[in-house]
Amino acid sequence: AAAHVVVVGGGFGGATAARYLRRLNPGMRITLIEPTQRFATCPFSNLYLGGLREWDSITHGYDDLRAAGVEVIHDLAQDIDGAARRVVLAGGDVLDYDRLVLSPGIDFRWNAIEGYDEAAAELVPHAWRAGPQTQLLKSQLEAMEDGGLFVMSITDGAFRCPPGPYERASMVAHYLTTHKPKSKILLLDSKENFSKQALFQQGWAALYGNMIEWISLADDGQVVAIDAANRTAETNFGTTHRADVLNVVPPQKAGWIAERAGVTDATGWVPVRGGSFESEQVPHIHVVGDATIAAPMPKSGFCANAQAKVAAAAISAELAGRDTPPASFANTCYSLVGVDWGISVAGVYRAEDDSIVEVEGAGGVSPIDANAAFRKAEAAYGAGWYAAISADIWG
Ligand code: FAD
Repeated sequence: AAAHVVVVGGGFGGATAARYLRRLNPGMRITLIEPTQRFATCPFSNLYLGGLREWDSITHGYDDLRAAGVEVIHDLAQDIDGAARRVVLAGGDVLDYDRLVLSPGIDFRWNAIEGYDEAAAELVPHAWRAGPQTQLLKSQLEAMEDGGLFVMSITDGAFRCPPGPYERASMVAHYLTTHKPKSKILLLDSKENFSKQALFQQGWAALYGNMIEWISLADDGQVVAIDAANRTAETNFGTTHRADVLNVVPPQKAGWIAERAGVTDATGWVPVRGGSFESEQVPHIHVVGDATIAAPMPKSGFCANAQAKVAAAAISAELAGRDTPPASFANTCYSLVGVDWGISVAGVYRAEDDSIVEVEGAGGVSPIDANAAFRKAEAAYGAGWYAAISADIWG
């Protein structure tokens, strides 16, 4: 019989893997498991918060993948038995596989910040998985009075999209500048510095004056407790900040199904072989995207897409009895600081003896002294990137 590859997760990594497996293996049976009918992307969800994008423009369905010959099942993978090579779905179906691809994204470490659990997130959103959480945060911003305080608590450690919190601050500032200009933004950070920091801060000063205040770890930026009912954040040194809108980007780990599959380690993330993205712990399971330990690659949609193509090529080669092709990857993280003001950071990577190394001299960040035309061009490249990767993945 034809080989059967099951893919769990229809986001950036999983939907890419399904499409590229299909392209590389016309005879293969490919099943994609994803609970949601329409996937809402985190990329460009900050632009939705800023009022620069409509909701529909950041959601994607699965008809095109179906038309390409991928069997899409809208259900949740509930359990995985790596020894029996079997996936049990919440709806009761059981699927046997020759190879499994997991791209479940992230889960949150509830209560790592005292008081911040699933119930608290219904009052004080994270909006770090796009969907109802993003819409909740937007409705809170819209309900806020002019002169209100927007507070964001930002985690340290490994987390989804290193520049994401600062792009969000930028887009919230854009919205407030145009609708509620007396308002303020306070960023409480658990880190000493952040991605593209000089570029963000330059753009903030130019576009938003002193609307955004960033407080680092050393200046008592680390939030240790949240009172969701009162919308307060308490810091490590005991300062309490009261917010009108409070947004928490909490500590994270791999999506829970990875732990069920036995592929996570003590860090809560998934160690993989860089040349194939096969789990180091369970054979025949390839894991891609944010769930993996793939440093120096960041946790980005761009990287998830690149890793999924490497995994699809490795699976195809292995099932056909060929050698695994050499793996290389690229990443660009675009961030929008304001209308016509884009910045980026790029990297190129390759697998070397199954670990991942950055190719020297191949990446870089936007120049700090660029002119307005350059920033405007980068904003357009960012929009072009979003259109291209969405078409590559969901059609
Ligand atoms: P996801 O894309 O989250 O997909 C995971 C999927 O798995 C989900 O659809 C989920 O429903 C499904 N799933 C989970 N568990 C199960 C289960 N048990 N059974 C079945 N399905 C399951 N990246 C960029 O490259 N560029 C950007 O501009 C950018 N901007 C961002 C802005 C923000 C605010 C945030 C939060 C992130 C941003 N990112 C960006 C990062 C990007 O969203 C992630 O890196 C990317 O989504 C990772 O892909 P993934 O496949 O690992 O996870």
